[in-house]
Amino acid sequence: MNCGLCSNCSPIHNRLILINTSMGSLYKYIKIDRDLCIGAASCVAVYPQIFALDEESKAVILKKDGSQISDHTSVDLLACAEIDDDQLLLSAQSCPTAAIFLYGEDGTQLYPEG
Ligand code: SF4
Repeated sequence: MNCGLCSNCSPIHNRLILINTSMGSLYKYIKIDRDLCIGAASCVAVYPQIFALDEESKAVILKKDGSQISDHTSVDLLACAEIDDDQLLLSAQSCPTAAIFLYGEDGTQLYPEG
């Protein structure tokens, strides 16, 4: 699948570039395992629009409505207007205890990879 526009990428790379044309995040759900979280705050440093530490120094996900959650939740409810997939994945990868879980549309766990 390519973007369906100019195909100018084809001769450059000898193939069409694969891109996400769904105009949305590949990651549809997110969860923080509070038992694994040690409050290192790497996630907050990488993506402060989405992650914060609560009063227990555990990571929480910031939601549009101003509330916070660690449980499994839809990325559509996150405080950020548009999710940056690379930044979201990087924040999960930065966690020293792999406490951040990312899931696809069908609920498949995409990170950490199984
Ligand atoms: S990077 Fe991991 S351990 Fe650190 S605050 Fe975020 S979820 Fe917790």
